[in-house]
Amino acid sequence: MIDAVGLHKVYRLKKHRVTALNGVDLHVESGEIFGVVGQSGAGKSTLLRSVNLLERPDAGTVTVGGEELTSLSGARLRTARRGIGMVHQHFALLSSRTVAGNVGFPLEVAGVGRAERRTRVGELLELVGLGDKARAYPSQLSGGQKQRVGIARALASRPRVLLSDEATSALDPATTESILGLLRSLRDELGLTILLITHEMDVIKKICDSAAIMEDGEFREAGRVLDLIGTPGSLLARSLFPLPDLAGPDTVVVTYPRSFDEPLMSELTRRFDVDVNILGGGVERVAGQSVGRLGVDVRGARRAEALTYLSEHGLLVEEAGK
Ligand code: ADP
Ligand code: MG
Repeated sequence: MIDAVGLHKVYRLKKHRVTALNGVDLHVESGEIFGVVGQSGAGKSTLLRSVNLLERPDAGTVTVGGEELTSLSGARLRTARRGIGMVHQHFALLSSRTVAGNVGFPLEVAGVGRAERRTRVGELLELVGLGDKARAYPSQLSGGQKQRVGIARALASRPRVLLSDEATSALDPATTESILGLLRSLRDELGLTILLITHEMDVIKKICDSAAIMEDGEFREAGRVLDLIGTPGSLLARSLFPLPDLAGPDTVVVTYPRSFDEPLMSELTRRFDVDVNILGGGVERVAGQSVGRLGVDVRGARRAEALTYLSEHGLLVEEAGK
C-alpha cells in the first residue's frame, strides 16, 4: 500500500546541513499496522510527512495505493492526499469550533454540503466513541477524547491510509491503551493501513504487525515484528525485551519468537538433567503470540545437548557471554 524507495532529505540551515532522511526504503502492506520507532531527531516525522508529501524528499519516490505521489503536484496531489489521513501528537484542534465543527472541517474545505456533512460527522463520532460530544468544545474534553476527535477528523475523507505522528505520546498509559485499541479496531473494521511513528516500544508491542527501528535518518532494521524477534542479534528484540547485564559463563539468551504449547524448560531439566535458572527477561503478548526473551543459566554435563534441543524446537538460543 505504501512504497517509499530511496528517500533522502537534507534540511539546510544557515551554517550547517541536517540529513533527516539518508536513504530510507519503506514498504507497508495493505491493512497492516507499521510502526517506526526511534529517538527524538531520528527523522521519523520527516519520514511521515514525506509519505503524504507535506515534505518533498530531495530524492526517492513515494507510491501510495499504486499512485506515485512524487510525480504529482497541484490539484492532483491534493486529491491524492485526501486518501491519506493524519493524526498529530498535540491533536491540532480548532478551539473555537465544536467537536462536530472540527470533524466536519475537512469536509467543508472539500465542498461537501451541509446535510451530507452532518450525517458523515455523526457516523465518524460514533465510530470513535464520541457520539454524545458533538456540541462540546475541545477545552471541555480530556486528552484521550481530543485524540478521538483528531482521529475522526483524519477519517472524514474516507482515507485508506492513516498516518499517526506520536498520537499517544501526550497521553497517560490507560488512555494510550484505549487509543491504540481504537486504532486497531479501525484497521479491522475499515481495512485501514496505518503507519505510525513513536518513541515508545510499548506501542510497537501492543499493535504493530511490522516495525522499523530508525536512527540518524536510516532504518537499522525493518520487517514483520515476529520475524525480527526471531532473527539472531535483532535490535528490535533487544529493545522490546531488555535484559539486565547478568551474563556469566553459563548464561544464554533464549528468545521465544512465537507461542509454544510444550513446556520446553521443564522438559529440558527432565531430559538432560540440567539446572535452569532464570535471571531476567519477560514474555508478553505481541502480534497475537506469546513471545519473549529470557536470560537463563543452564548448567550441567549435557548443557550443549540441552541447548540444541531448544533450538530444534524453534527457540533462538544465543550465548550471552559472546
Ligand atoms: P523525529 O520526528 O524522529 O524526532 P524529525 O524528522 O522531526 O525527527 O527531525 C530529524 C532531523 O531533522 C532533526 O535533526 C531535526 O532537527 C531536523 N529537522 C526537522 N524538521 C526540520 C526543519 N523544518 N528545518 C530544519 N531542520 C529540521
Ligand atoms: Mg517527530
